[in-house]
Amino acid sequence: MKYGRKRVLVTGGAGFLGSHLCDRLVAEGNDVLCVDNFYTGTKDNIAHLMGNPYFELIRHDVTFPLYLEVDEIFNLACPASPVHYQRDPVQTTKTSVHGAINMLGLAKRVKAKIFQASTSEVYGDPEVHPQTEDYRGSVNPIGPRACYDEGKRCAETLFFDYWRQHALQIRVARIFNTYGPRMHPDDGRVVSNFIVQALEGRDITLYGDGSQTRSFCFVDDLIEGFLRLMAAPDELTGPVNLGNPHEITVRQLAETVIAMIGSKSTLVTRPLPADDPLQRQPNIDQARAKLGWEPSVPLEQGLERTIAYFRARLS
Ligand code: NAD
Ligand code: UDP
Repeated sequence: MKYGRKRVLVTGGAGFLGSHLCDRLVAEGNDVLCVDNFYTGTKDNIAHLMGNPYFELIRHDVTFPLYLEVDEIFNLACPASPVHYQRDPVQTTKTSVHGAINMLGLAKRVKAKIFQASTSEVYGDPEVHPQTEDYRGSVNPIGPRACYDEGKRCAETLFFDYWRQHALQIRVARIFNTYGPRMHPDDGRVVSNFIVQALEGRDITLYGDGSQTRSFCFVDDLIEGFLRLMAAPDELTGPVNLGNPHEITVRQLAETVIAMIGSKSTLVTRPLPADDPLQRQPNIDQARAKLGWEPSVPLEQGLERTIAYFRARLS
């Protein structure tokens, strides 16, 4: 048993999910080190934590080695929006793969427990629906999404090899579409795009015919899942799906957002991006049974809080 505060490293800590995770970890009395290169994250997301003596910010790119003394690592560094991860695809793969090697090396040296933010994208455009953790996926290895999908798949491989070869304590979460306050207005993901477009009265850009599905999880629910997985017994390495199984079409999401905002925006269609998965819904039986976790925030409630955030930001 260690005495005092746990020292917890969060890579990608200035991003959307990372900043919420830092909030929770600081609130629970940990000594938090946030590492970020600000590729998609911003200081605004963590500005409110900066005066806290138990929060420290380090500007660093995880593709380079890092030497610190910590007890736990949450490895979140990686752009998550298709628009951003495809902008510099080589850097995206490097962030996932070299980043994982560097963080796993650090974990091994200091005997830290390490968590990987993996993704539903490891399932690619899935033929199994809903997706269970034993499904091996259908990823196009040479398409525009591969830098992210294959990078994350390789990171999972590295985590399990370090676990087998070096007996590292690992936790791998496969995160499904998550939304909430602190998404960047120009993030490019569907929830932020639709809300910002509707608030500004601009056209709502529906890619394809909008019949593709996603299942959206509110950020607070997801972060609770992260903490439960990290605190679970060591046998529970994962991968564990974390997401909200409530599945809707992208068109339904657009209509909901327009109705909630009372916007005059209209739907316009744009070509469906290559390899865009047609359906996605997590099977969360494992998380329910082993972590006692399931999302509690319904879509409309989460959207209300996200709309309020963007309204304040844009005004
Ligand atoms: P985000 O883009 O808001 O955050 C990513 C953070 O990582 C940013 O702060 C960015 O500056 C930082 N970063 C990127 N490359 C880096 C590097 N080389 N070195 C240091 N920092 C770097 O995205 P997010 O939604 O908060 O996603 C966080 C993690 O969760 C990512 O690993 C993502 O793949 C994973 N994930 C998110 C979702 C989701 O729906 N939000 C779904 C699946 C997986
Ligand atoms: N999408 C859309 N309009 C937008 C942005 C996204 O119709 O302005 C669609 C996109 O084609 C995909 C879904 O919404 O089918 C989710 O996209 P996002 O980029 O949020 O995440 P993904 O799940 O594809 O990684």
